[in-house]
Amino acid sequence: MQRAFKVLSFLLVTKNTSSLLSRYSSTMHSNIITKEFGRQFKVQVLPALSDNFMYLLIDKTTGEAAIVDPVAPNTVWEAVKRENVKLTTILTTHHHWDHAGGNKELIDGNVGDPLTVIGGDDRIDGLTKMIDTSGTDLKIGLLDVKCLRTPCHTTGHVCYYVSTDEGSVVFTGDTLFVGGCGRFFEGNAQQMYEALIEILSKLPENTAVFCGHEYSIQNLKFGLHVEPTNEDLLSLLKTVEVKRQAKEPCVPSTIGMEKLVNPFMRVGIASVQNATKTPGNSIETMRILRELKNDFKG
Ligand SMILES: [Zn+2]
Repeated sequence: MQRAFKVLSFLLVTKNTSSLLSRYSSTMHSNIITKEFGRQFKVQVLPALSDNFMYLLIDKTTGEAAIVDPVAPNTVWEAVKRENVKLTTILTTHHHWDHAGGNKELIDGNVGDPLTVIGGDDRIDGLTKMIDTSGTDLKIGLLDVKCLRTPCHTTGHVCYYVSTDEGSVVFTGDTLFVGGCGRFFEGNAQQMYEALIEILSKLPENTAVFCGHEYSIQNLKFGLHVEPTNEDLLSLLKTVEVKRQAKEPCVPSTIGMEKLVNPFMRVGIASVQNATKTPGNSIETMRILRELKNDFKG
């Protein structure tokens, strides 16, 4: 991530940004995959930078599409062309450069109707619709998208929840990862508790989780450090290691799976509270877990 930051900083001050970004994204960390959700919609997983994910959300009925965190615009346009869809919307989870840093180039390279740029932070490039109330509803074609404010990693972080009768998905940015959560850069343990336990854990168990980074192996190894005998964790780590060898992305997870394997989603459970020596205090468990993870070398 540090190295990726240096590479991108270099690219951003270089005149030929787009061609360099394209060359950079050709060495993708994962394969592009598509997840179908019945006849109603699909999500194409687009890897970017060293471990980021962008997501093309497609309403199959109307052919309208939204892109989540388009940091590598050329990869996005290639996908839009390949899928023959009309891109109308950018869904930005948060303002960090590796999520919102492609907004301007995407807007500038767009020849159709102006893109709607959604987000919860006025530091987001090109923002046209500010989400300042959690639960705000949007439409992408016929799809209902609910914007869930989850401040902590950044104060303006938003997750996007899409629910249909053929399946539901949530784009969690740097709030919830497979097996982990984002750093508390602009918030505290109380806020991450609210985001993970009071908001995301309450979504239906089969909700597919599409997160902002491929950090699965490191996260699951940390999980095993906290809960060495968690059988679900042990078996998921095996699956994930096989997937990563084949460059398969580890998304999507599900909310139900995260409740079984992710220590940050399990702060109310005795085995996690015992490991952090914080019995009966889930918020303190969250705080200590994050500190342990920050120092964890795996
Ligand atoms: Zn971030």
